[in-house]
Amino acid sequence: MTRVFSGIKPTGHLTLGNYLGAMRRWAEVDQHQADALFCVVDLHALTVDHDPARVRRLSRQAATLLLAAGLDPQRCTVFVQSHVDEHTRLSYLLECVATDGEMRRMIQYKEKAARERERGGSVRLSLLTYPVLMAADILAYGTDEVPVGDDQAQHVELARDLAVRFNQRYGHTFVVPRATHPKVAARVMNLQDPTSKMGKSEDSGPGIVYLLDEPDVVRKKIMRAVTDTGSDVVYDRDARPGPANLLEILAACEGRSPEELSGAYTSYGALKKDTAEAVVEVLRPVQERHRALCADPAHVDQVLRTGAERARGMARPLVDTAYRAIGL
Ligand code: ADP
Repeated sequence: MTRVFSGIKPTGHLTLGNYLGAMRRWAEVDQHQADALFCVVDLHALTVDHDPARVRRLSRQAATLLLAAGLDPQRCTVFVQSHVDEHTRLSYLLECVATDGEMRRMIQYKEKAARERERGGSVRLSLLTYPVLMAADILAYGTDEVPVGDDQAQHVELARDLAVRFNQRYGHTFVVPRATHPKVAARVMNLQDPTSKMGKSEDSGPGIVYLLDEPDVVRKKIMRAVTDTGSDVVYDRDARPGPANLLEILAACEGRSPEELSGAYTSYGALKKDTAEAVVEVLRPVQERHRALCADPAHVDQVLRTGAERARGMARPLVDTAYRAIGL
């Protein structure tokens, strides 16, 4: 059976981008068709300035939202990265295979480090090595497929390179994984700046729809989305990023294609209204389940405990093999 692994960082409140780009597919497709693991990657949240209590709170919220999004612990493994030591054990071995040059070329590192320096802050070494830990997250489970939004393509490519290099040097140890991306909404853009990604780690703002936003907040944010001065609704991501983003969001919510939808609209107002209602409807069951899960914290604890045990059982033999292969 295909092994699937993917994760989410507790660096902020989860967004519509996380849901349409990743989580929904995990729940609707991956957990049914594969032996799948989904992880709250809390160690990755320490790569930038962080408040310990907030990280703990957000990890818990992310785990609860994964279940609320429809992940069923009977069908897949849901756990928290720091509960399974194999991730950091393997990460060190992979640091001995990766090079500093390839880390410095990572686009997300360059962008985040530049932002950190602009703010007058210093860049944590873990921000540079983050993609190696991510490679360890993936490789520790013999993962075949990594379902992610397209912002993660370069990091999964690195995991592939490290697996191939390790296997060549030390004997066949790791499965070489590949990224899969959704057909629509692989990169949901910020509603106020449709040239940049709707990212949860950015400052909160009117351009980001959060999974736990009240229906009226969702409506307001989408009705105020930036479009352009054009009057016709066409789907063109490069020339018309604002309307294209709305068309993608609506298409993803309704399981249609943005090209097909563009022909159905003659005004931005109508497009925004339908997009807002579609998003409210998609979020409604997630929010309802989230409320129920918050009322039963012992259940979430139990799911995460069982998930960590299962994950450890899968990762340990493979990581032990890697230790032996590299000469330890
Ligand atoms: P973030 O960038 O919000 O911090 P993470 O790194 O935790 O997100 O990513 C969790 C998953 O959500 C990844 O698969 C990522 O590709 C996906 N994702 C994040 N933002 C978006 C977006 N705006 N559009 C589509 N997918 C996204």
